[in-house]
Amino acid sequence: MKTWFAIPLWQRVIGALILGIVVGFLWGPGAESIKIIGDIFIAFIKMLVVPLIFFSLVAGVASIGDLRKLGSVGWRALVLFVVTGQIAVWLGLAIGTLLAPGSGIDGRSMALDPAALEKANDRRENAQSFQDMILEVVPSSPVQVMADVNVLPLIVFSLLIGIGILMAKEEGEPVLKIFESGSVVMQKVTMIVMELTPFGVFALMAWVAGTLGLEALQALGFLVALNYLGCFLIIGIVYGGMIKLIARLPVIDFFRGIADAIAVSYSTASSNATLPVTLRCAERNLGVSNSVASFIIALGATINMNGTAMYLGLATLFGAQAFGVDLSWADYFTISILGTLGAIGAAGIPGAGLIMMVLVFGAVGVPLETIALVAGVDRIMDMMRTTTNVSGDAAVATTVASLTGELDRAEMISADDV
Ligand code: ASP
Repeated sequence: MKTWFAIPLWQRVIGALILGIVVGFLWGPGAESIKIIGDIFIAFIKMLVVPLIFFSLVAGVASIGDLRKLGSVGWRALVLFVVTGQIAVWLGLAIGTLLAPGSGIDGRSMALDPAALEKANDRRENAQSFQDMILEVVPSSPVQVMADVNVLPLIVFSLLIGIGILMAKEEGEPVLKIFESGSVVMQKVTMIVMELTPFGVFALMAWVAGTLGLEALQALGFLVALNYLGCFLIIGIVYGGMIKLIARLPVIDFFRGIADAIAVSYSTASSNATLPVTLRCAERNLGVSNSVASFIIALGATINMNGTAMYLGLATLFGAQAFGVDLSWADYFTISILGTLGAIGAAGIPGAGLIMMVLVFGAVGVPLETIALVAGVDRIMDMMRTTTNVSGDAAVATTVASLTGELDRAEMISADDV
């Protein structure tokens, strides 16, 4: 038992992944019988969706401190968060459409729950009118919204509560405390659920390898490669461009300055866990002022997740291709909006992106079974998503600091210093 926990979780997950594939190949279609373990894992993940979004979003909005603080620093950061988030989802959609990672899998041949597939299709056939869609975003009954795991109105409700807490000032503080502590508690609960990952991954990979064989594994390998490609493009082009063209700083020096944050984010797969390191890198190596760094990087760790946004776009197309769901342009727009919202709502902890798939898939009729399919390789992708998310927080903090005169250029380490 002690030795088990002494091994870092990610290593246990990778071990489970390899073992699952081997067992699946040896066992063949019979491996389906252990899929139940993977289903239990996914059911636990679904359990987390509502409380995680609710606590983390309310606490995130309310922690801004006061409404006016969204002044010169706040709006610039928010614009950069939203614009880069949109670029990221559309990049994921473009990569997914052009390179079609899911086309190698025939998801319908898997012995899935036919009722689930039918339900997904029904949702599309009963496509709602624009008015209905707007109405559905209004959380007319918050309790119902939570019971139905209806994420969009839940996000609206959470944002409103967060703003309400800010408006209530001192009187809102006890409620804020509840949400802040609730958010920490939910992160701990998520960590417990994440301890199930090696077992879930083992069962799911054995099932995928046993029933779908090599083709499915190739498709998943391709998905992982495309996830890395998308993240590299965001880091290199979007962040590199932002640092060079808007902040007007040497790109190499920026990346050298955040090297520690990159290493920690990649190994922990958690923006939150990396937060202290990102802060230190931004202040000590890049010369960002303490107030700008702490405000933007702390907020960014909760809401600025471009790697996650890109992945949500890519994974939705993967599922659509695997299960033969045709997506229209309107669906692409829905994915782009929900992908950005999902990335905002995702907590900065391992596996959060996987949880947000429930939101995007449900809206465009991609069967939730896709989650089972990709969950086995999620950790490897999560590590790169998180690195992208964390680098994005540092890039936005540096850019806003440079625009508002809060950057001490003399502090920035340069290639000549080393
Ligand atoms: N693990 C990521 C983060 O902490 C979120 C995700 O799962 O995409 O930034």
